[in-house]
Amino acid sequence: MTTNIILLGPPGAGKGTQARRLVEERDLVQLSTGDMLREARTSGTEMGKVVAEVMDKGQLVTDEIVIGLIREKLEDTKAAGFIFDGFPRTLRQADALEDLLSGMGQKIDAVIEMQVDDGALVDRVSGRYTCGNCGEVYHDTTRPSAKEGVCDVCGSTDLRRRADDNAESLKTRLLEYYKKTSPLIGYYYAKQKLRPVDALAEIGKVGHEIAGILGQPVEA
Ligand code: ADP
Ligand code: AMP
Repeated sequence: MTTNIILLGPPGAGKGTQARRLVEERDLVQLSTGDMLREARTSGTEMGKVVAEVMDKGQLVTDEIVIGLIREKLEDTKAAGFIFDGFPRTLRQADALEDLLSGMGQKIDAVIEMQVDDGALVDRVSGRYTCGNCGEVYHDTTRPSAKEGVCDVCGSTDLRRRADDNAESLKTRLLEYYKKTSPLIGYYYAKQKLRPVDALAEIGKVGHEIAGILGQPVEA
């Protein structure tokens, strides 16, 4: 049985953090379009340059580019299921995802709507840093690494802050979220897939609530 989950919420809601927990607990693969695009921007290609400019402004990259990236990953990856993190972000992406999955004989099982107050997001993104080697997500106050400057998971000292994690870019990213992504809440509600969680709660509690929705992990 496959399980495909979407984590839906504004920037800083905790999608990446919860996606990594789910990967640990279940045999699922995280597909983060943000991570894929950050990789693409370092490729030195023409596409990478365009992507970098758009991301730094906090705007959305075109549907064609992100749908193409997801299509490639779905074709290339064998998994018991996928966690879509930061995708879909537009109705067009949502329709494309449904088509791609149905072509594989699969569907979306649950859309976890991570509910937060906008006020909390400035602090969430301005305190965020991640491991450049393994992708572990940290926060200056709510989830600092045990040893300063060293990743708890892989021991790397390559801890980074994102160029777009500043108050100015967050304003644009939030506007993009409300204009283009929040309509997906109604879209998935109508499809009876929407499962809201209180993403303001502490990280472990949010994980618990998500586990309650998804049920026990299936033994391999
Ligand atoms: P998203 O992927 O939705 O943009 P992240 O998972 O990267 O969000 O989380 C944003 C920041 O908030 C990170 O620094 C992370 O450590 C922190 N964070 C995530 N979830 C919580 C939570 N429930 N409570 C407090 N801080 C959190
Ligand atoms: P994230 O890592 O999810 O916060 O995404 C960082 C940035 O990448 C966003 O602000 C967008 O510029 C871009 N991005 C990520 N995912 C998508 C998507 N599904 N559609 C369009 N742009 C995206």
